[in-house]
Amino acid sequence: MSEPESMTELEAVSELGAEAEKLDVADELAALRARFVLDETVYLDGNSLGALPANVPDRVADVVRRQWGRLRIRSWEESGWWTAPERIGDRIAPLVGAAPGQIVVGDSTSVNIFKALVAAVRMARETGDGAHGRDEILVDATTFPTDGYIARSAARMTGCTLRPVVPGELPGALSERTAAVLLNHVDYRTGRLHDLPSLTAAVHAVGAYAVWDLCHSAGALPVGLDEHGVGLAVGCTYKYLNGGPGSPAFLYVRRDLQDRFDSPLPGWNSHAEPFGMRPDYEPAQGALRGRVGTPDILSLLALEAALEVWDGVSIEAVRAKSLALTDFFLKCVTAYVPAGRVESVTPAAHEERGSQVALRCPDAGDVMKELIQRGVVGDFRHPDVLRFGFTPLYVGFGDVERAARVLASVLLRRA
Ligand SMILES: *Cc1c(COP(=O)(O)O)cnc(C)c1O
Repeated sequence: MSEPESMTELEAVSELGAEAEKLDVADELAALRARFVLDETVYLDGNSLGALPANVPDRVADVVRRQWGRLRIRSWEESGWWTAPERIGDRIAPLVGAAPGQIVVGDSTSVNIFKALVAAVRMARETGDGAHGRDEILVDATTFPTDGYIARSAARMTGCTLRPVVPGELPGALSERTAAVLLNHVDYRTGRLHDLPSLTAAVHAVGAYAVWDLCHSAGALPVGLDEHGVGLAVGCTYKYLNGGPGSPAFLYVRRDLQDRFDSPLPGWNSHAEPFGMRPDYEPAQGALRGRVGTPDILSLLALEAALEVWDGVSIEAVRAKSLALTDFFLKCVTAYVPAGRVESVTPAAHEERGSQVALRCPDAGDVMKELIQRGVVGDFRHPDVLRFGFTPLYVGFGDVERAARVLASVLLRRA
């Protein structure tokens, strides 16, 4: 590298460093970082595993020592264990724009996709014009693998054909044969945000049901489930909701569809009279129809504590900061990284961007290993993507500037 180039680079570093400081000072959400257990690492992997909220360890210790250790079986009632799936669902509801009584928490995202997709096909085939001819499930062709695997199995079980479709081409693929459509709100690899209101309307217009996977949008941006008339949605709680490794997922069933939600996994927890121990299944009313078996109490209650970090925080403020963070990251990458070395595959338009930036880079796997060694944690997605997730609750603008600077230095050294 020649002398003047390095001078230009030094100037850029000091300018962007000063800009980061200003942005951090003006950041209304900056104080929230203290609600998390963090260190000097720049943690840009909260879209894979959210950081630990500081109040969780003591709560989990109380659940284990007192609720389980001393109260034992009494805790199903006295500690509110039995109703935790609906109670915690109601805590998540405002973050995804849902009124209470429509979300239940439990099982993994994979399992909830299965429940929602099969239930969607069953609803679409209820009496109505041409309902019996509905024999196709459409799935986002770029989806996270588990969604595709489960959609394929759901299609086999319901006698449907599975058609992978790129979300942008969905409207043209819909027909009176469509029973259900499984879509991602934000693409896990590129960070592209899909147009939930218009795609939902298009699916409903042909008499089919959409199942939205909110794994990369819940806790990152406003979803507006009720406002946009979404029927069914599922989402993860260990990413932007910081529930902890393997924390249970959520399932949203719009209120007016709940009576028709015919779960392919009816269990005793969703029975109208769970302690009646009756041989015949009679589904309960409401969102708890999405329950199956005994809830995963330790993980559920860790999640409940983790959700307290959202007290007094609006999802709109989180979205505004998220866009500012990803904008600033792209600006720093453009200033620091040698031209042509990486290419952003995340849309530049705000209305098409989630809360991550994905950079295509030929040696992405090795580059990410070096970044992690140097205290900048993102992740690598096969075959050539460096993925950086921005959690506005605990990532600051100084972190963003440092991440871009370390990335540039790793890339320069490898050149
Ligand atoms: C993270 C993620 C999942 C995870 O599913 P699990 O059942 O929790 O392993 C599923 N789908 C998408 C789109 C995801 O991003």
